[in-house]
Amino acid sequence: MIKIHPNIPELPLTPQAWDWLREYGVTLKVRDPHSTSGGGFWWPERKLVELFTAQEEAAIHELAHAWWHERRLQGTNAAELIVAVVKLSEETDPRYARAAELAKQYVYGIRSQRDPKSPTGWWRGMLVEGNDWEMFAGLASGSMGHLERLPEYVRRFYRGLFDEPTSA
Ligand SMILES: [Zn+2]
Repeated sequence: MIKIHPNIPELPLTPQAWDWLREYGVTLKVRDPHSTSGGGFWWPERKLVELFTAQEEAAIHELAHAWWHERRLQGTNAAELIVAVVKLSEETDPRYARAAELAKQYVYGIRSQRDPKSPTGWWRGMLVEGNDWEMFAGLASGSMGHLERLPEYVRRFYRGLFDEPTSA
């Protein structure tokens, strides 16, 4: 657990991960530290994590983007993550039910969610576009950085970023 900003609750990030991010050049900006409504951006060219508010979930999401930015380019990491998310979409272990539900949406999309930019008119998910970066950040915030909510074959991508489960 680590405190990265006075208004953001402690995050389940390892101190080593936060050190790495800062050495890599990442800076953090919180637009409205008195709100927790969420939202934010990762600006790769500026290495800036910009949070609209002090919401924990958004902080985890955008920091995960920053963390994955270099790692996704190493070897076959990006493709391996996508394969793991496809596998997660078929996971039946009830401990990982929430993560599996998110993975299903990433892989198959959401037919009830309109998307004017999509050729089908509905959101087709992330698999068709090979969007490993949003899969990575989405599962990070979807699990709120709790590695025990992810099966080992997905958890391994977050090792070093988030604290190891204490009781599992
Ligand atoms: Zn994102």
